[in-house]
Amino acid sequence: MSSPFYIYAMMKPYEKLLQNNKAWAEGMVTGNPDYFKQLAGVQTPDFLWIGCSDSRVPANEITGTTPGEIFVHRNVANLVINNDVNLLSVLDYAVNHLKVRHIIVCGHYGCGGIKAAITNHNFNQVLNMWLRNIKDVYRIYRTELDKLDTDEKKANRLTELNVIEQVNNLAKTSIVQKAWKHEQRPHLHGWVYGLNNGLINPVFDMPAGTHIDTLYEYDDL
Ligand SMILES: [Zn+2]
Repeated sequence: MSSPFYIYAMMKPYEKLLQNNKAWAEGMVTGNPDYFKQLAGVQTPDFLWIGCSDSRVPANEITGTTPGEIFVHRNVANLVINNDVNLLSVLDYAVNHLKVRHIIVCGHYGCGGIKAAITNHNFNQVLNMWLRNIKDVYRIYRTELDKLDTDEKKANRLTELNVIEQVNNLAKTSIVQKAWKHEQRPHLHGWVYGLNNGLINPVFDMPAGTHIDTLYEYDDL
């Protein structure tokens, strides 16, 4: 006869995920029998999280929140790109249907996407296209960044500047500007998470209604 532990050890990695899921679901209803009934009823998160895909930066765990509290979009280096239909669909749904009050762009120190973007390495086609957006952020702040004496310092500062630029990119969308005009929300925040200490560094806030470069402000919203 095999012990349950032996069976668990022999499982394929993805089968362990399913096994863990069963244990987790059972644990949740042990504490509150109606947990899933309540959660399935309605989704009313106050927050949209735009974070990095990095497996070490899970939105719920690092903010001590539970399912239902944060609407999440993640991509490499937490970018807000104005022709990314995926990002824009999430943004539209979060702002116009879920009515989120805050949007958080959260980068993290030690981000592989940021580090890759400051090299000259050819990552071939698709990744080059994506990382180009980070190179563009570097170029805007080149005077400041070039003064830093190590690649690590440059990457860390670029990570902070990148979330500031992505928050600015959110403010440039008509989706955000329209909600600002009519509902005085959402407030925008740029944060950077520290992989080495688990702490979030809030680097930038843009309250609803902030005026940006007039070239980007739409009329008739
Ligand atoms: Zn990253």
